[in-house]
Amino acid sequence: MPAVVVVVACGVVATDAASMGPKSFAGFLVIALVVLTLIRRMASVQREVDHLVSSESRFRALVQQSNDVTLIFSPDGTITYASPSVEDLLGLSASDVVGSALSGHVHPEDTSALTWFVRGASEGGTVIAEWRVRRAEEWIWTENTSTDLREEPGIEGIVITSRDISERRSLEAQLTHQAFHDSLTRLANRSLFLNRVAHAIARAPRGGRQLAVLFLDLDGFKKVNDSLGHAAGDELLVACASRLATSVRPGDTIARLGGDEFAVLLEGITGLPDAEQIAERIATAVNASFTVRGREVFVGVSVGIAEVGLEQSPEVALRNADLAMYFAKSRHKGRYAIYEPTMHQELVEWMELEADLRAAISANEIAIAYQPIVHLATGRLYGAEALVRWRHPKRGLVEPSRLIAIAEETGLIIPVGRQVLEEACAQASAWRRDHRRAESLRLSVNLSGRHFQEPSLLDDVRGALERSGLEPSALTLEITESVLMQSESTLTTLRALKSLGVRLAIDDFGIGYSSLGYLQRFPIDILKIDRTFVDSVALADADPVLVRAIIALGRTLRIETIAEGIERLEQRDGLQELGCELGQGFFFAPALPPAEFDRRLLHESEDKRLTPDYGSAFTPAPVS
Ligand code: C2E
Ligand code: CA
Ligand code: CA
Repeated sequence: MPAVVVVVACGVVATDAASMGPKSFAGFLVIALVVLTLIRRMASVQREVDHLVSSESRFRALVQQSNDVTLIFSPDGTITYASPSVEDLLGLSASDVVGSALSGHVHPEDTSALTWFVRGASEGGTVIAEWRVRRAEEWIWTENTSTDLREEPGIEGIVITSRDISERRSLEAQLTHQAFHDSLTRLANRSLFLNRVAHAIARAPRGGRQLAVLFLDLDGFKKVNDSLGHAAGDELLVACASRLATSVRPGDTIARLGGDEFAVLLEGITGLPDAEQIAERIATAVNASFTVRGREVFVGVSVGIAEVGLEQSPEVALRNADLAMYFAKSRHKGRYAIYEPTMHQELVEWMELEADLRAAISANEIAIAYQPIVHLATGRLYGAEALVRWRHPKRGLVEPSRLIAIAEETGLIIPVGRQVLEEACAQASAWRRDHRRAESLRLSVNLSGRHFQEPSLLDDVRGALERSGLEPSALTLEITESVLMQSESTLTTLRALKSLGVRLAIDDFGIGYSSLGYLQRFPIDILKIDRTFVDSVALADADPVLVRAIIALGRTLRIETIAEGIERLEQRDGLQELGCELGQGFFFAPALPPAEFDRRLLHESEDKRLTPDYGSAFTPAPVS
């Protein structure tokens, strides 16, 4: 429009100029020029006004309709404009907000973000920052973007576009939680745990208090999972997690590493004894029965303890504790072990032994030694306990408990158990058939927990009896208390075994469970009193209360008792006085190779009975 005016005005000037004299023409030109300049100035002002009007109305339109909140603040931090939507965000009307200080709405912890934002915005750039603002009693997370419009007439301030991101924030928090926590137990996961260990190492004062990592693995969890289902297994894990939480100190980190593995970070302990104490506490808590889906279940826990060196990586610390746990589990279930550097070497040996054992089983190199069980009163032979022996070509005799531990761990215990059962039944059957003194010899065979759970167990026992021709009642299977307590189906298995005609003994009786109710429930024929109790018999300053109680219990329940590990004459006499009739131990004889057993026991002249002075005939000899 102003451009048209200018053109029209110039046209008028040109037409009139033709009819004028030179002087008046010059004057006319000056006027025309002044008018023209004026018109141009007006046009430019008009343009500016138009621009302003349109940009401000555009600005207003945008701001008023947007869900985002727009604030303008002056360089001194006072809010000079607030869009209507501020009411949704702050719960205050726009007119209440205008005139207030921006910082007055921001969470005190976020003022540094605000300061950084204001500085960045004042330097002219677009900056984005997040902070919390107050809405009544709560704090709302916002994302804020700056636009510097200080030069823009009509605005003259820094514009903040602010949006509520509390939903995104809580989703993020949830995702972060998920990324660092186990969803089932809500405990920390492996990566958070390692992170905490790293921080603890960095924080730990040099030469001050110590750090330790515990690695936990449940014993018998798989059984619960397999027999009662995964949902029950999950329930058990959650219950375990909460028992762990009550066993450690409030500041300690507990993590679930996966499956039935957990870890605990102990900070500020005075030394390993502290860690051991906590491990004990954890074991006690986990060993107590759980009620899962209305059923009582038992699990144990093996704990590896590793001290954390301040130069160590968290991964190494955890691996060391894991290794120690492995030792705890394979050596003595339900216990703890402290990491030692030699464990790595032992592990290598362990693995070599495992490979060699596998070969030995196929080559039938597993031998059996027989330890006599005698009538305490007369010394006559009552029976024999079959004990496995393995002579390693390079290492010599492998300690049976070590061999059994490897075999249990690897499942090789099943073929080992079958071989022992098969061969011992054949041997006992031959002795009973060929020697008059062994006519009524009873054979005891140890049954491992793993084999006890094996579906083939009944066939294995029945097969060994049938092939050997051994009278079923001559065979006693020895089971430990922990095996009896392991599973729901124990009673069924025990009854099935009983139906074959064999007898059942509880081995190492007394060291396991305090509840003896199961003795009445289970069809048990024999209790074998553990050596640790026999040790206290006939000691000047000890009262063998437990042995006395066990023997009395056996009497009441009509269960035979056999004392294990009798090493001294006084022990035998003491046991006899207490009413125990049967026993075994180095005092009579160690476990003997079959030929030796044969020679020493069966081929002795008929009249040279095992009377109380048989001691000479059975001088404790090295186990071969
Ligand atoms: P256990 O069933 O309690 O066997 C008795 C252990 O005590 C045997 O150890 C025996 O040699 C030892 N012993 C006997 N009399 C005395 C004594 O007077 N003093 C001392 N200190 N010890 C005595 P061994 O042969 O080393 O067997 C250790 C364990 O290995 C057995 O303990 C048993 O739990 C297991 N085991 C042995 N053979 C077999 C087997 O064929 N199958 C299974 N599943 N386990 C077996
Ligand atoms: Ca035994
Ligand atoms: Ca025993």
